[in-house]
Amino acid sequence: IKKIAVFTSGGDAPGMNACIRAVVRTGIYLGYEVAGIKQGYQGMIDDNIENMSRHSVSNIMQLGGTVLKTARCLAFKNPDGMQKAYENLKKRGIDALVAIGGDGTFTGAERFSSTYDIPVICVPGTIDNDLYGSDFTLGFDTATNTVIEAIDKIRDTAESHDRLFFIEVMGRDAGCIALRAGIASGAEAIMLPEKDTAISELIDLLEHGAANKKSSSIVIVAEGDKNGGAFGVAKLVKEKFDFYDTKVTILGHLQRGGSPSSFDRILGSRMGYAAVKALINGDNRKMVGLRGNEIVLTDLKEALTDHEFKLEDDLMEMSIILA
Ligand code: ATP
Repeated sequence: IKKIAVFTSGGDAPGMNACIRAVVRTGIYLGYEVAGIKQGYQGMIDDNIENMSRHSVSNIMQLGGTVLKTARCLAFKNPDGMQKAYENLKKRGIDALVAIGGDGTFTGAERFSSTYDIPVICVPGTIDNDLYGSDFTLGFDTATNTVIEAIDKIRDTAESHDRLFFIEVMGRDAGCIALRAGIASGAEAIMLPEKDTAISELIDLLEHGAANKKSSSIVIVAEGDKNGGAFGVAKLVKEKFDFYDTKVTILGHLQRGGSPSSFDRILGSRMGYAAVKALINGDNRKMVGLRGNEIVLTDLKEALTDHEFKLEDDLMEMSIILA
């Protein structure tokens, strides 16, 4: 290997910049050239690539989003698009890649490095925390903190006006953000895609709260909840339970941005450093992940196989007991 290129792809996530910085600085420190590819796979096809120096990643650690930009690129799914990307990389002497993104990005990386002689190491960057092979993905901690901050603010209004708030948070398939943010903000109930909470069960909880003279209630709803998100749940509850004034808030894209937490800065740095070391070690088609407090490598093929996704049992139990 002589020249490593790094890129971000799929949805942006806080901590990606810390990872880019670590890849660039570790690579250069160890005697390699490093390039940055703009807009993910699209930039590979468009030859939107620039050489990086230590200085080019100064002062980015604290920034949300990704300085390399990100994109969704359909053309990369076609052999012609991949071929064009390969030619551009070769032309520039790039012979190894670090890809930061979600499972779509990993699928592209797996296909590309199985076809061409360019090894790839992937880093899990997505706020959803729904990837196999890492206890935490880059951006999840920051997003959860952002959600907690928002819920705390909404709680002030809920409490002052005796209101029942339904707050929808990100998580189409995984309720990681909803579960943790719900526990950390003392939500009265949490509706998760992983758990089929019946509306009657939710109403029992709310009635119990009302009987205990709770003057406000917060229900966190993951967007993948089967009752149709926060609006769906609110409508069903309102049909049967009309004690409080009810309101719905969809937190939406504000959950994706913002300055990364210390956890995501350190995780991004560790993962970027580990990705470069793995490439130098001769690893290919692997993802770096955090298991316990150790950085581990998992084969992309294994990471991409369907695994049953499970939320922590103790958190699930606590979410009911502590509410
Ligand atoms: P997020 O979890 O934030 O959605 P992601 O990496 O899963 O991130 P996707 O949009 O699914 O986001 O994938 C990112 C890019 O990876 C796609 O735009 C496409 O360029 C590439 N990609 C996805 N699937 C494939 C595939 N089967 N073959 C080649 N490239 C792919």
